[in-house]
Amino acid sequence: MPDRYDPQEIDRKWQARWEETGLYQADADPARPKYYALTMYPYPSGDIHVGHWYPMTPTDAHARFMRMKGYHVLYPMGFDAFGLPAENAAIKRNIHPRTWTYANIRRMEQQLRTMGAAFDWRREIITCDPEYYRWNQWFFLKFFEKGLAYRAFAPVDWCPECSTTLAREQVIGQDRVCERCGTAVVKKELNQWFFRITRYAEELLDFSKLDWPEKILTAQRNWIGRSEGAEFAFSLKGSEETFRVFTTRPDTLFGVTFCVLAPEHPLVQKITTKERRADVEAYVYQASRQSETDRLSTEKERTGVFTGAYAVHPFTGEDIPVYIADYVLMTYGTGAIMAVPAHDERDFDFATKYGIEIRPVIQPAEGEAPAAGAYTGTGVMINSGEFTGLPSDEGKRAVATELERRGLGAAAVNYRLRDWLVSRQRMWGTPIPMLHCEGCGIVPVPEEQLPVTLPEAVEFRPTGESPLKLDPRFRNTTCPKCGGPAERETDTMDTFVDSSWYQYRFLAPHDAERPFDPEEGQYWLPVDLYSGGAEHAVMHLLYTRFFHKVMRDMGLFDSLREAHPERVWDEPFPRLFSQGVITSFVYRNAEGRIIPYTDVEYDGETPVQKESRETLVPTVEKMSKSKGNVVAPDEYVNRYGADVVRLFFMFIGPWEQGGPWNPRAVEGVARFLGRVWSLVTESAQGSGVSSQGSEGSWTRDQRPETRDLQRSVHQALRKVTGDLERFSYNTMVAALMELSNTLQKLRSTPVVNTPEWRDALEKLVLMLAPSAPHLAEELWERLGNAYSVHSQPWPAWSEELAAEESVEIVVQVNGKLRDRLQVPAGADEETVRQAALASEKVAGAMDGKQVRKVIYVPGKLLNLVIG
Ligand SMILES: [Zn+2]
Ligand SMILES: [Zn+2]
Repeated sequence: MPDRYDPQEIDRKWQARWEETGLYQADADPARPKYYALTMYPYPSGDIHVGHWYPMTPTDAHARFMRMKGYHVLYPMGFDAFGLPAENAAIKRNIHPRTWTYANIRRMEQQLRTMGAAFDWRREIITCDPEYYRWNQWFFLKFFEKGLAYRAFAPVDWCPECSTTLAREQVIGQDRVCERCGTAVVKKELNQWFFRITRYAEELLDFSKLDWPEKILTAQRNWIGRSEGAEFAFSLKGSEETFRVFTTRPDTLFGVTFCVLAPEHPLVQKITTKERRADVEAYVYQASRQSETDRLSTEKERTGVFTGAYAVHPFTGEDIPVYIADYVLMTYGTGAIMAVPAHDERDFDFATKYGIEIRPVIQPAEGEAPAAGAYTGTGVMINSGEFTGLPSDEGKRAVATELERRGLGAAAVNYRLRDWLVSRQRMWGTPIPMLHCEGCGIVPVPEEQLPVTLPEAVEFRPTGESPLKLDPRFRNTTCPKCGGPAERETDTMDTFVDSSWYQYRFLAPHDAERPFDPEEGQYWLPVDLYSGGAEHAVMHLLYTRFFHKVMRDMGLFDSLREAHPERVWDEPFPRLFSQGVITSFVYRNAEGRIIPYTDVEYDGETPVQKESRETLVPTVEKMSKSKGNVVAPDEYVNRYGADVVRLFFMFIGPWEQGGPWNPRAVEGVARFLGRVWSLVTESAQGSGVSSQGSEGSWTRDQRPETRDLQRSVHQALRKVTGDLERFSYNTMVAALMELSNTLQKLRSTPVVNTPEWRDALEKLVLMLAPSAPHLAEELWERLGNAYSVHSQPWPAWSEELAAEESVEIVVQVNGKLRDRLQVPAGADEETVRQAALASEKVAGAMDGKQVRKVIYVPGKLLNLVIG
């Protein structure tokens, strides 16, 4: 039995034991309350790094805490295993993406075990397994049946480096570069598969059943971008053609002095007059070379050209010139706008530049309209025919109603949200289960033929085409409808399809009949707590809500809802916690050169270069390879053990805010656990006082040390419990440190021979169990208790024992009794003096005079000598 704290040995010992005894295996048990905790599963990049530990260790502590609170906890883990890096590695190293992916997964599983995470590994899912992705295909067929999956020819963003289409979210920044490789993105026309997420736009805006961070809801709200207004048609002068516009300000309709079509608008070719054709064509070509972001930039000067055509104002019958301009996009709204320069900034700039009339039709309700620029606020309608005098809010409805009466349009809602482009021209993804038959057109693969599996042997060439397209054995097949030859779809699905429903697959990962087992679902669903990074606010977290709603509408949750009508069935993750980002220090010398943190040590408080002893300037920055500040947790696990690293991640700062990895603070945490170790092991070998047991009853002891001990323990229990419930891990660790300091002080008093001391140590170990599971398990055993500490009930605290005791202090001024004060027992002189000076009676007696001397008899009397 080693007495030295040897974290590596303890880690290994207990990880093996937990595995052997199946401690974390959870099977449905209707007799017990359930708790399903889920943290976002990782991509198998090959290494569990800080970016995994930081979100996972507090979640693991939470799952363990809920177990101790009596819940039956499901806490599974898997791998989001499809995606580009595997394919790029395959091209580079000439191995199958599967080989690369599975090797990484095996390594990462091992690393996750060294973290001491309480995952139920029997439930592991790996999304590139055919037994998983066949259900992606099954869902695709169901979506197709319901008209929620469709194929459309559409301009797409294309990364020439990755040779793939990108979703809008994967195109980054003003420069419009690829999220993965930073290459400039270009436009390309391709036939693509889409999921009709826009059908659910309205319901996706309903956040009433979500307990989610406000910033994520805001991101989703903006992404969906709902606006109310009117949609109506303009007719073209001397033509049968019409075009539709959407406006959020129908109340400004009388201020329309021109219209603008997107350069890509199909009408442009038809309506352009002969004289204007050359200018229009040149402009259309130039616009097609620009990005949407450039075109929408507010910095950019507005440009456009007149088509030579005129629209007819729906109310006044006036001629309205029709322009094309690149600030109108075909992918937003209807691809055409009515322009009201008096009340819209962009239209104002455009009209000013091209000398078009600016006609005010809204008068601010209070104050003056601005002398220059557009007035975009509300007010009273003017110069608006029969509507003149109406407040603009009323006017919006009135104009929309009149448009409807005339059969031109109606009030309408517009969304920024686009349908979800799910096609990827890559091999390492779920094959889309569709066929192309010359005679029958698009034909879905019959359900009984699923899964459509990826070929074992394919040739990878960085050609820009998916290897599936070049593989005749995969591509050529028979049409199930007519028996003739057919070709398989060679596009694969966006990996966000995989993660849109994975939470259900954990319930029965090997079920060959269904995507998930509804009986398991009845017990475990919905997920009680989901955690992950805020970077998923608008992709994963929106797609999974959409998927869930489709699954609900397919009836997949009907029996579940029947069994538990009180639970939330309209959302996949009723409760979400989003952690912050972990950063670390970057050290620079006087010339601004970055010094790798392995070459840095501290001289007191000052970081210096190890050899040159040159003073360095530390700054806190996001971890990045180029700055050399990426922390490898394995290094620290090898040195300090998993518990120190786990605890340190929780100690860094508020979990939702993130904070810097600080090697010096890690040592502080290591010292803390070392102190706990010696406190407990010394006592465990020492007096032999028997335990009261964790469920023992407590009596208030009259000896002051025992009271201090009881109070400290029960206050810590109250604090730690509340902190764990609120995910306030940093304050939890601080409370445990404080308790260990108190125990350290009491260690030399007779209290160590009491049952209360033993009880205090047990409670300390129980409180540590969720966050430092290995150490807690070892100490629990050394205290002579039965395996496992993680199956113990969470200890309750007693308010009576936690209460601060107060004593009465007599306050005198120049020896004369002036007041009696209640102060906490053990309060120091300064605290008592402050309390006394705050007393009105004392202040009155002092009459503004200075205190010359203070006489304090602890716990009894305070005499202020003034004069
Ligand atoms: Zn790229
Ligand atoms: Zn056919």
